Amino acid sequence: LNLFGKRQNSAGLNLNVASQWQPLKAELDSQLLKRWQAQPLINGQRLPGKVQAVLAPYALNEVVGEAQWASAEQAQQAMDALSAAWPAWNAVPVVERAAIFERLADLLEKHRVELMALCCREAGKSLQDGIDEVREAVDFCRYYAEQARERLQRVTLPGPTGERNELFYEGRGVFACVSPWNFPLAIFLGQISAALLAGNTVLAKPAEQTSLIAMRAIELLLEAGLPPAALALLPGDGAELGGVFCRDARLVGVAFTGSTDTARVINRLLAERDGPIATLIAETGGQNAMLVDSTALPEQVVKDAVQSAFTSAGQRCSALRVLCVQADIAPRIEALLVGAMAQLQVGVPSLRKSDLGPVIDAEALAGLKAYVAEARAAGRLIAESPLPAGLNGHFMAPVALRLNSLAELGKEQFGPVLHVLSYRAEELPALIDAINATGYGLTMGVHSRNEQTASTIEALARVGNLYINRNQIGAVVGVQPFGGRGLSGTGPKAGGPNYLPRFASERTTTVNT
Ligand code: GLU
Repeated sequence: LNLFGKRQNSAGLNLNVASQWQPLKAELDSQLLKRWQAQPLINGQRLPGKVQAVLAPYALNEVVGEAQWASAEQAQQAMDALSAAWPAWNAVPVVERAAIFERLADLLEKHRVELMALCCREAGKSLQDGIDEVREAVDFCRYYAEQARERLQRVTLPGPTGERNELFYEGRGVFACVSPWNFPLAIFLGQISAALLAGNTVLAKPAEQTSLIAMRAIELLLEAGLPPAALALLPGDGAELGGVFCRDARLVGVAFTGSTDTARVINRLLAERDGPIATLIAETGGQNAMLVDSTALPEQVVKDAVQSAFTSAGQRCSALRVLCVQADIAPRIEALLVGAMAQLQVGVPSLRKSDLGPVIDAEALAGLKAYVAEARAAGRLIAESPLPAGLNGHFMAPVALRLNSLAELGKEQFGPVLHVLSYRAEELPALIDAINATGYGLTMGVHSRNEQTASTIEALARVGNLYINRNQIGAVVGVQPFGGRGLSGTGPKAGGPNYLPRFASERTTTVNT
């Protein structure tokens, strides 16, 4: 059994090399004249829907395109079509399904500059995030395709003479893939590729904010050879559409990435309907800490903390939310943090110099600002990065806020908000208990040159991804399988060997020979 495969992860772009930057720059410029379109798509047919203008989150006068949102009736229609199409797709040999996703990976690479620019324009991603987004999407497709070839094949099991025992996998039926706006291409395609490779037909419900990227990805998937009946794309309102497909007894499972609250709603809908017990694969939020003891290298800590908290404007579920520093070195770390945050460049993401772009929309910005205003009024602001004048979008200056105790930490803030807490050495085990007691368990960072401390933390921490002496974001497909526990998700880990089989149904056949 080869759990991690032989495939190579895809390469990125180096924007400091003119020949690699120029094509992306030209694409960004030419897309200003383009209007992208998204529409409900069922059985390969584009259907009309309620029109929504899509504006760039960093330039509210810049139209990126137009998304047409699906109706509740279309969600029903999609369920009918996908149920009818399931037996035929389930009968397609795994190697043929895998070949489609390998061709999709090639197409994503061929169109990578276009996709990077679109991620920047529709989702407000920085250029580096756009590059990483396309790479991760390619890696998910190739990784799960390879896994499908390796893991989903029929195996003969040892047994008594006169009997043949075989174990194999098949699809479960219609799966819904409900994906987030913060990884609009990578997680969108990660979920879909696994669900389809395992033999399910798929109802794809992209985040409201990123329908255009989703549509483009599906166009490429059809070009790669996916039979059009195997997938329906439903851009639109999650509550309205989810209310239809999650209640439908023909739905066998949901792969969801988003907030913990929404995962609960989905779980409840699935549990309350009549019909099979559905599979829920959920990747949700985090209240992720980094624990720093007095042996850590301050410059390295601050570099990794700033990267972990503020990359993607803090809009990653893996992002660092609470920097916990041993009191002895807290003043030094804080001084360096203030200096580093003064250097951060917030700006239009299509510029190379911008470290971070906007947050996703007005609602997100308003929530974050209200949270920070309260902390500021309580005198807890440690640092705030400069926000250049003249920006016309959902921009938010990164902030660092003091926490006097972990109990002061409220709801997860999905943006560039870092909390800083200092602790005394003897409080470390109690602090880890308190972090575990939040109920979240996604990422944790550790900075220590004391092996004893690192291994104590490793033993006590209840998280899915622990990072020691480095940053704590950007898990790599097939290298750092990603996902948490408790309020952070159900597992299995994305980009890991146990993800794909969860989408499939196992069957044993015993023949008396
Ligand atoms: N896999 C991403 C990372 O390691 C985070 C995914 C998410 O935010 O949902 O940073």
